[in-house]
Amino acid sequence: MTTGAMSRRLLARLRDLMARSAAPLSELAAVIAAEMVSEVCSIYALRPGEVLELVATHGLRPEAVGRTRLRIGEGLVGLSAATGDTLNLPDAQNHPAFAYRPETGEEPFAALLAVPVRRAGRMLGVIVVQNRAARLYAEDEAETLETVAMLLAEPLAAMAANEPGGEDLATTLPRHFVGTTLVAGLAIGPVVVHGLRPAPTRLLADDPAREQARLAQAVARMRHGIDQLIAASGELPAAATTRDVLEAYRLVAEDAGWLRRVAGRVAAGLSAEAAVERAASEVRERMRRINDPYLRERVADIEDLAERLLAALEAGAPPPPVPPGAILLARRLGPAHLLDWHGRGIAGVVVEEASAAGHAAIIARALALPMLGGVRDAVAAATAGDLAILDGDEGQLILRPPEDLQRAYLRAARERAARALAWADLAQAPARSRDGTPFRLMINAGLAQELAALDRVGAEGIGLFRTEIAMLARGRLLDVAEQAALYARVLDAAAGRPVLFRTLDLGGDKLLPDADAVGGENPAMGWRSLRVGLDRPALLRRQLRALLLAAGGRPLSVMFPMVATVAEFVAAKALLLAERERVRPPPARLSIGSMIEVPALLWQIDSLLEAADFVSVGSNDLMQFLFAADRGAPALAGRYDILSPPVLTLLESLARRAAAARVPLSLCGEAAGEPLVALVLAVLEITTLSMNAAAVLPVKAALAAADFPAFRAVLETLRRQAGDVASLRGPLDAWAREHDVPI
Ligand code: PEP
Ligand code: MG
Repeated sequence: MTTGAMSRRLLARLRDLMARSAAPLSELAAVIAAEMVSEVCSIYALRPGEVLELVATHGLRPEAVGRTRLRIGEGLVGLSAATGDTLNLPDAQNHPAFAYRPETGEEPFAALLAVPVRRAGRMLGVIVVQNRAARLYAEDEAETLETVAMLLAEPLAAMAANEPGGEDLATTLPRHFVGTTLVAGLAIGPVVVHGLRPAPTRLLADDPAREQARLAQAVARMRHGIDQLIAASGELPAAATTRDVLEAYRLVAEDAGWLRRVAGRVAAGLSAEAAVERAASEVRERMRRINDPYLRERVADIEDLAERLLAALEAGAPPPPVPPGAILLARRLGPAHLLDWHGRGIAGVVVEEASAAGHAAIIARALALPMLGGVRDAVAAATAGDLAILDGDEGQLILRPPEDLQRAYLRAARERAARALAWADLAQAPARSRDGTPFRLMINAGLAQELAALDRVGAEGIGLFRTEIAMLARGRLLDVAEQAALYARVLDAAAGRPVLFRTLDLGGDKLLPDADAVGGENPAMGWRSLRVGLDRPALLRRQLRALLLAAGGRPLSVMFPMVATVAEFVAAKALLLAERERVRPPPARLSIGSMIEVPALLWQIDSLLEAADFVSVGSNDLMQFLFAADRGAPALAGRYDILSPPVLTLLESLARRAAAARVPLSLCGEAAGEPLVALVLAVLEITTLSMNAAAVLPVKAALAAADFPAFRAVLETLRRQAGDVASLRGPLDAWAREHDVPI
């Protein structure tokens, strides 16, 4: 009998046995031993305390069942569990790790094949076959036992769950994780895990031929998806490099080797999902062991393809519903996936690798979705459905919180909701300080979903519309018509209130998929943003045309990001003016502005103010370049402060120069949304602030509560006495709290 036929017959027999609800493991062991022509088949299950216990055997002494126990790492069984590797040994008893257990009576058996049993990355046990004759098992035999191990995962997991005290303690105890707050806020709810597919429920196929056809269809769908990705990459900056990367990926997708193995397993009786899942878990195992970065990339490609193939197999099946208030856990997360999850109703998100999630964080902020980054190992520690608390104010995630903590956080959540309700009344009130100084509070936006916030918080317009966000969300550049439709919607929603559209600001932490090659080693300071627009004028002009078309005769404001020289601004402005000549009707009024976020511009400010109709300080980038401190680096978060004497001096002088030149100035970095910073900016006479929508009402509340002349006096005294302090935040914060200013 060929091994393929053996495998098919074995799987079929096991399926029949397992279909009878409680087939004892010893019966399974007997069938496996018989079909694999081995004298012994033993099953070890992981028990609490990291111990592997012999739970069934055919061929060893029956009295060893329940008695023979090995710690993880102990003996060959423990070694296989510890490393996650299959062991194939012709002479097991002379292996240095062999641990003799007299009660088993295993002395006569020389050859041993041990395979770990895992599910969703969790170790559940080990299955072993043994033979008297010293021989190396054939590759196909190892393959068969590995497939059998997959089937065994189900009964072993059920056994672990059903046993009193048999639950893995590590998955029931509370766990506490510290991360970086990317979006503040609080969420309490069950965990959902991104990228974690439930283990396939149907492991064996009734009709292998039909299953092969399903697989072939899914492979075709997957390849078509990759072709589309490559076709869409033509519009990206550095399209050639991007295409090279994607072409390399396509080569891996075309590589018949791993697909043939998947098909072989389907031929042997596995369902297509189970066969692909096995390929994916093999790759994951291999990735653990490879250090070479090039090879890791290739292996990662295969893992990614296996994921795509699973998605293609599921195509058409609706995604399972998300429980209300769910908190999403992810290792990495792209913007499109985040939007997708948001649409399904998550209430918070925790990402392990924060830097890769840079653009997801921008979207989360836009959606006012509490988010933590840099939370190591959270995904592995959580099981879908576990209760979790995402405390974005303290930067912590608590998995399976004890009841008293749950109650405390629920109270905090209720208080928060009550405060938000009280603030909601402020939406209609004008933004004024207690002594009557008026403010213009605007929102930063980038997604159609955010437009409703304009009215909800009573904002005076959109002080920064980040045009790249919609493209990041879709994972590609939008064409002129798509862009024009989006921008027109934005202007419609603003209903006459000003909207400052910023041209594409891609690069840095905002990369379209597969565009990594664009930025070089230091993407924030690389070929990004307006630099790309000026070097690829066709791209920029298409966007400018879309903006002019969207205005359709209405007033239009456009600003350029990352301007480093006045010459760059003048060149960009010329492109816009040239486009205006081509579009009918032209906008009733065209205002052209510049972001101030590159320090060099501060020494060209007078000529910039002559050329620009308005300017807006991008404090996120300005701070990063002033202090040479990566804005995305968790280790530097909070190290340098906008409320530091040099930055306040700089902003004050900027505000004075702009006022003298009668050029409107605003500030649209994240700092504008901090109530305390907003108060300080007001003293510096920067009163047009653009912030994420969730911050508008809290800022309004703080402005309305503060006794401005008193605050100004405190700030001025502190600035005079500042000496060498790195920040004035501490004493200002203390003053605000003492005077009941909600900051
Ligand atoms: C900034 O840099 O402050 C800014 C508003 O732009 P972005 O955050 O999009 O870089
Ligand atoms: Mg910026």
